[in-house]
Amino acid sequence: MAYDKDDVKKVVDGFQAKRKRAWETWESHVSEIRTMLPAAYELEVKINRAGPRMYEAALRGEGEVSFEKIKDETVELTKKLRAVLKENGYPENYLDVNYECSLCSDTGYCGIEMCTCMKEALAKTGFESSGLSNLARSQSFESFDLSFYEGRDRERIAKNVQLLRNFAENFDTKIGGNWLLFGPTGLGKTHLSTSVAATVINSGHSVIYESVGQVISSYEEKRFGGDYSSDRDRKYSECDLLIIDDLGTEVTNQFTTSCLYSLINERLVKNLSTIINTNLGQGEIRERYTDRIASRLFGEYMPLGFSGRDVRQQKLERQFG
Ligand SMILES: [Zn+2]
Repeated sequence: MAYDKDDVKKVVDGFQAKRKRAWETWESHVSEIRTMLPAAYELEVKINRAGPRMYEAALRGEGEVSFEKIKDETVELTKKLRAVLKENGYPENYLDVNYECSLCSDTGYCGIEMCTCMKEALAKTGFESSGLSNLARSQSFESFDLSFYEGRDRERIAKNVQLLRNFAENFDTKIGGNWLLFGPTGLGKTHLSTSVAATVINSGHSVIYESVGQVISSYEEKRFGGDYSSDRDRKYSECDLLIIDDLGTEVTNQFTTSCLYSLINERLVKNLSTIINTNLGQGEIRERYTDRIASRLFGEYMPLGFSGRDVRQQKLERQFG
C-alpha cells in the first residue's frame, strides 16, 4: 500500500471535519434539550458520567462487577432517554452523536485496521487525482471484447490482456514492471491501460494517467513560472504507476525530449512502474527521440504490439450495418 501523501492528507482532513461536524451537531442538540426538555438533559448528563465512573472504579481497583453494573445502568438510562425524547416529539436518537460510519465512528479505523469507509474514500480520491476520465473509470478487463480481433491478432491481443491483467491484479511496487503498448489507434491500448489503472487504484496505489501532452505542459508551466502552484511534476516521478498515453502526439523539441528522458529515467532508477501507449512503431520511435530514450524504452520496457482492425470502426459497422 502506498497511497499518495496528498490524497491521504485530503481524506484524513475530511474525516476530521466529519467528526467535528457530528460533535457540533450533538452539542447544539444538547444545549437545545437543556432548555427545552430538562428531564432528558439530566439523563444525558448521567449517561455521559459512565466513562468517568468506569475510570474511577478502575482507579479504586474495582473489577468487572463494577463495570458491568455501570454498563447496565447506562443501557437503562439510554432507554429512558430515548423514551422521553420520543414522548416529547423529538427523534429518539436526537442526542446520539451521528457519525456517517457506525463501524468506525468516522475515525477511519476499526482498531488498527483501516475501515472500509476510509479505503473507499482513498480510492475515490485516488481516482479523482489520477486524471482518469469518468468514461475510462468504467472500463475493465471484463468488458474487453476479443471478438473484434481475428486469427493471429486475437492470439496476440489475448496474450496482452492476460499479461496486463496479471500485472494489475498482482501489482507490487517491489516487483515493478514497465510496458510499452504500441500499434495503430482503435485497437484497445487505452481500454487496457485504463483497466490497469482502475485495478491498481482499487488496491490502494497512487496512479496518474495522462496524455503525453498533459505531462509536457505541466513541465512547461513550471518552467515558465507564472502561477504554477501544483506539484504535479513531483507526482509524475513519485506515483506508484504512471501511464503516459499517446506518446508521439506531442510537439517534439529539445525541451520535451529532455523532460521525457528525465522522467522515464528517474522512474527506472526508482524502480517505479510506467506504462507508455504509442501509435508509433519502433523505427519511428528511434527516429523521433534520442537514442537515450529509445534505448530505455526498448531495453527496459516490455513491448506489447497491438494489431487488427480498428475496433471503433467495427463497432460503428455493427451498429449501422
Ligand atoms: Zn468507517
